[in-house]
Amino acid sequence: MSGTDGLGRLPLRAGLRGRTPYGAPQLEVAVQLNTNENSYDVPPEVAEAIAGAVREQVTGLNRYPDREFTALRADLATYLGHDLTPEQIWAGNGSNEVLQHLVQAFAGPRGTALGFTPAYSMHPLICAGLGTAWIDGRRGTGNEPFGLDAASAADQVRHHHPDVVFLCSPNNPTGTALGLDVVEAVYDVTDGVVVVDEAYTEFARPGPPSALTLLPGRERLVVTRTMSKAFALAGVRLGYLAAEPAVCDALRLVRLPYHLSSLTQAAARAALAHADLLLATVEAIKQQRDRIVAEITRIGLAPVPSDANFVLFGGLGDEVAVWKGLLARDVLVRDVGIPHHLRVTAGTPAETTAFLAALAETLEELP
Ligand SMILES: *Cc1c(COP(=O)(O)O)cnc(C)c1O
Repeated sequence: MSGTDGLGRLPLRAGLRGRTPYGAPQLEVAVQLNTNENSYDVPPEVAEAIAGAVREQVTGLNRYPDREFTALRADLATYLGHDLTPEQIWAGNGSNEVLQHLVQAFAGPRGTALGFTPAYSMHPLICAGLGTAWIDGRRGTGNEPFGLDAASAADQVRHHHPDVVFLCSPNNPTGTALGLDVVEAVYDVTDGVVVVDEAYTEFARPGPPSALTLLPGRERLVVTRTMSKAFALAGVRLGYLAAEPAVCDALRLVRLPYHLSSLTQAAARAALAHADLLLATVEAIKQQRDRIVAEITRIGLAPVPSDANFVLFGGLGDEVAVWKGLLARDVLVRDVGIPHHLRVTAGTPAETTAFLAALAETLEELP
């Protein structure tokens, strides 16, 4: 186990003292439903294509990769559609790196960033790593504790005038997608950069379209995506964004040269050539998500409606005890730090069955 015990003896910079690293447990369990990966293996045909594409790069590994990942940008633009051009695409080692580039370029050590929490835990962590001050925006509308409406979001952004605003849609860990009116309202009251993190957009129920539709004419709007979730390629580490070409030029100022290895570029391109096969599991996963929501409701708990491949559910007396009870039954879910709530990833039908059975047993055992 890595720890933070020895850190007190090091001249760690002030902004990092007392902080804890990102720490979703990586445990050997039969049913791993804690980090919203796609539970389905890469299909054999795609695995072959990726292996072949990677193999072709190997003898050329003495050379640096294409720093501009030109071919990959073109493939990503084609995949996204919406008349996007390769000049509007940027990519990194996971969307986490893309988000880090954005904070580096547009906020940095003297800047501020705001997100509406609870949201993705990496948004504030990325800011902490860069010395960017984080501002906790509030969620909650009428009877929806995790909702976010346009008026409230715009008011908060107007009040704090952050350099970067994070909107997460569908939101992790709550699961619900944002109306585009929220994105528009926030954009209109800030002169900072507005980042819409659409990591889970492929799982959304029919509803508001992607924020990609808002890009024309909005030079400070950025939409980020990832191949880690619906695409079933978390191990490849490939995230990307679409924005005005000038945004990508700004990111060139902060990225490390050759940040995307030739192996990553080749693997991602081979995967994109089989996007239909990789995305074929999305419908099955959405069915499991809806099954989890229905079953959890039936047993008297309170799931939050979800547009993602996970479900946040409340109504637990002692969420830590439930988390432990599930782990004792070989099921790993996520305690996201919201009292009385846990988050579970929707995976295969067998995983859902195992989770629901373990949950019923655990609840029976607890007072
Ligand atoms: C999982 C996730 C990501 C993806 O991170 P990668 O670095 O691309 O693996 C981005 N944003 C949110 C909200 C996520 O939950």
